[in-house]
Amino acid sequence: MGRTHALSGAVLWLVAAPLLSREEWLGSYAVSLSTSQVIAGAVVAAGAGLLPDIDHPSGRIANTLGPVTRTMCRWVSRASGGHRHATHSLLFVVAMGYAMGLLAAHFRYGWWAALFVLVGFGLRGLGLDFEGHEVWSGLKDCGMAGVAVYLMHDLNMSFAAYPVALGCLAHLIGDCLTPEGCPLLWPVNWRMETVLVPRTDGRVERLVVVPLLACAAVVLTAQVLIRHAPSHWFSSLTG
Ligand SMILES: [Zn+2]
Repeated sequence: MGRTHALSGAVLWLVAAPLLSREEWLGSYAVSLSTSQVIAGAVVAAGAGLLPDIDHPSGRIANTLGPVTRTMCRWVSRASGGHRHATHSLLFVVAMGYAMGLLAAHFRYGWWAALFVLVGFGLRGLGLDFEGHEVWSGLKDCGMAGVAVYLMHDLNMSFAAYPVALGCLAHLIGDCLTPEGCPLLWPVNWRMETVLVPRTDGRVERLVVVPLLACAAVVLTAQVLIRHAPSHWFSSLTG
């Protein structure tokens, strides 16, 4: 479900981003974002869309940074009770959002490292790999993650809690629609499970869900670019 998770994280962020400036709802937590911040937020949310699966030592994102991420996933799996336990809960969503928000606001180097890993996860999720060439795929993902960190290194990302939490939340919503569901209220022993997608990576997901999410991501990104475009662009077009 890598593509579904990455795309749904970005889409949920792009839908929610305009609402985050509403002071009447969010009070002092409201944020007003520039075009670059909304687009950077979409990249972060796409990566965070894979984050709950760090409890899966043989899952897709475990190989993002070779032995580093494999070891991390093995430890998280042991500590969290195995796949689809603690990291698939609302508590994890809030904790990750809070932790990444803190990093982005106060610990520049820590945030860059976290951003590198998140973008790497997003790229693994999208799965634009060189078929059968694991090492080259890994190097390509690392290179692209490095470029993304470079492009965002000067951007104020103190709002990172929102795209990270929304990306994780999109992941949980997706997993709740598959058999096994998610223990949303962990540590309470109850699983939310509404099986609309009986098979992960099946035909419905590949031929319907992924294309729909990709279209939504493109349309919403275009909307952001048009909404924030300087008015003289349009006046020059209309003469
Ligand atoms: Zn999952």
